[in-house]
Amino acid sequence: MKLIKLQDLYFKPFISSEEIAIIVKYLAKKVKADLPKGEIPIFVGILNGCFLFAADFIREFNGNCEVSFIKLASYNGISSTGNVKKLVGINEDLTGRTIIILEDIIDTGTTLQEIYNIFREKNVKQLKVATLFFKPSVFRKELPIDYIGKSIEDKFIIGYGLDYNGLGRNYPAIYQRSTTPKMKNIVLFGPPGAGKGTQAEFLKDMYNLVHISTGDVFRFNIKNKTELGLLAKKYMDEGDLVPDEVTINMLKAEVEKNTDANGFIFDGFPRTQSQAEALDAFLGDKGEQINGMVALEVAEDILVTRLLERGKTSGRTDDTDESKIRNRFNEYNTKTAILKEYFEAQDKYYGINGVGSIEEITRRISKVFDTL
Ligand code: AMP
Repeated sequence: MKLIKLQDLYFKPFISSEEIAIIVKYLAKKVKADLPKGEIPIFVGILNGCFLFAADFIREFNGNCEVSFIKLASYNGISSTGNVKKLVGINEDLTGRTIIILEDIIDTGTTLQEIYNIFREKNVKQLKVATLFFKPSVFRKELPIDYIGKSIEDKFIIGYGLDYNGLGRNYPAIYQRSTTPKMKNIVLFGPPGAGKGTQAEFLKDMYNLVHISTGDVFRFNIKNKTELGLLAKKYMDEGDLVPDEVTINMLKAEVEKNTDANGFIFDGFPRTQSQAEALDAFLGDKGEQINGMVALEVAEDILVTRLLERGKTSGRTDDTDESKIRNRFNEYNTKTAILKEYFEAQDKYYGINGVGSIEEITRRISKVFDTL
């Protein structure tokens, strides 16, 4: 899940391809059930937006049918009264036939009106309209719509055939217009001891970001003997991850405490695939996103030595026992390391050599931060 940018506008995930598939299947079943036995309908798709819907619908229809498409083009200046819509493309004889219009979306109903006008003169047996999406709040006509997949609010959407200035039709899911993101959100990533916390302290001031370390928040709760602290302690002491649900809820609460932040440095979060997905969805709902994952790459042997060294002064019980440290690496390697691929798939992964002086590494990271 991520925000999509098309020219000047941003769009956030709205209706998943799984949900679309369920709606399309439901529509196809309902249309089929209402047809008299043996009736062969002609499906007429309204181009361009309907092409994916029509293709999926017709596959789900599961019966003999004919398929045609029309395109309604609007011209300016042909008459002084404004737009003239013209039918492009239907040649079949429709006399006595059952026509089922396939529309991707009906909003004001202007196009629908035009469709009814066109078919009025064709002597069809019946005309039915099936639309995938419908915007009831802007519909201005007294025209029947026989099948509605899903009613939605009046916000601009793209994907699954629908476009913005010609772009976006190719996405398999539906995205909704979103505000331009205001935040810079960065995941500072790397195995235990890589230096995420140290670096975050410098970077948060340089970039005026809020630093959230889930490890620090847990330790704060343990120190103050809160319910959350008591729960987390038994996992942390063993070097195990705290369960996702607990961690995700805590993270969300931390973000909500800083709603006017310029952005966040997430340190120690996400650590699992489901944490990453939850973070994406959570930020997406706010019209925000992760700009990048900056990963400190350091070999494990160096890290164990570093952590044991840190354990002498940090007061962290999970830094003193080598077997607990090894377990933290095991957790990292089995549950967390895969997030590299998760962010790579979104073109958001930036690996950085995490060996060197603190200042040197800050410089390497800030070179990446500046581009995000
Ligand atoms: P850290 O300070 O990031 O090394 O975290 C110390 C410990 O806190 C980890 O070993 C986990 O037990 C717990 N913890 C911190 N962040 C998370 C997270 N995102 N998910 C699960 N457990 C976490």
